[in-house]
Amino acid sequence: MSDISLIDSHCHLIFENFEKDLEAVVARWRSRGVKKLLHACCELSEIPKLKKISHEFEDIYYSVGLHPLESKKWKKNYKSLLKQAAQEDNRVLAIGELGLDFFKNENKNIQIDALLPQMELAYELDLPVIIHCRDAAKEMINICIELYKKGRCPRGVLHCWTGSTDEMKQFLDLGFYISFSGIVTFPKAYEIHECAKIVPSDRYLIETDSPFLAPVPHRGKRNEPAFVENVANFLSKLRSTEIIKIAEESSRNAEDLFKFDLLKR
Ligand SMILES: [Zn+2]
Repeated sequence: MSDISLIDSHCHLIFENFEKDLEAVVARWRSRGVKKLLHACCELSEIPKLKKISHEFEDIYYSVGLHPLESKKWKKNYKSLLKQAAQEDNRVLAIGELGLDFFKNENKNIQIDALLPQMELAYELDLPVIIHCRDAAKEMINICIELYKKGRCPRGVLHCWTGSTDEMKQFLDLGFYISFSGIVTFPKAYEIHECAKIVPSDRYLIETDSPFLAPVPHRGKRNEPAFVENVANFLSKLRSTEIIKIAEESSRNAEDLFKFDLLKR
């Protein structure tokens, strides 16, 4: 499968469990045809590390933002700090990951207070958002509809999709992309399989969300970007499409959303 070109549209590599063998991890994703990666940001203290790793490896790009489960850290000056980080480095391609997570935490208002200014910033900078949304689709959709009505809803992707077909359709109607992670390869993920079958060919991305949630047949182990090939392979079965076409479609969609190669601003 040497002529295949894949993009891992969402991963994390700066965690401790990649410290010892990062070079080998990089060699594996390159040998599997992974050409570009978007490294997501969970909190602002990660930004210097993200900057460093993306300048060390030319295939790594990154986002800047605050994860919903870190919402209580949000401070008034964070919007301007994120703005500065996004503007001073042309390898920053998105704002996030941001969003709502009511599965692990029910501090709704605190999460919304961190979410809204980040959505605003993405719109103002014309950058896409990377949305983490768990057990919170209804609230997230309502927030996006409100922004949409004002003509101020950013573009973006629902990363690591775990919602229903109905929720997916609502996000698609709002212009968002849907990204499938290793979870789509799990045998009992029936609803996600259904979503992956019906999502339009110009509106889906693939990702690993490394180091979490490794796809079958690596389930339970540390996940890594090379395994995005397993996600592509599973989608090719679900959609009865050649893997090369899944690679082409998902890469083109990721390019359309994140504009990896445009020198910005
Ligand atoms: Zn993530």
